[in-house]
Amino acid sequence: MTETYKRNKCEKCGEENPRKLHEEPDKTQVLYYSMQGAPVYKTRIKCGNCGAVFDRA
Ligand SMILES: [Zn+2]
Repeated sequence: MTETYKRNKCEKCGEENPRKLHEEPDKTQVLYYSMQGAPVYKTRIKCGNCGAVFDRA
């Protein structure tokens, strides 16, 4: 099986432990609305080490 998933890495401090990098919705950026009408937000990554927020790789 080929692993094509690209690991996220903090641009600021270099943290790449997935347990430290938390996905969270960026509520300023709605991608689309689900059929139930709920907004689906773009996800971004927040570094649990330094607090930097950056886009998913
Ligand atoms: Zn960091």
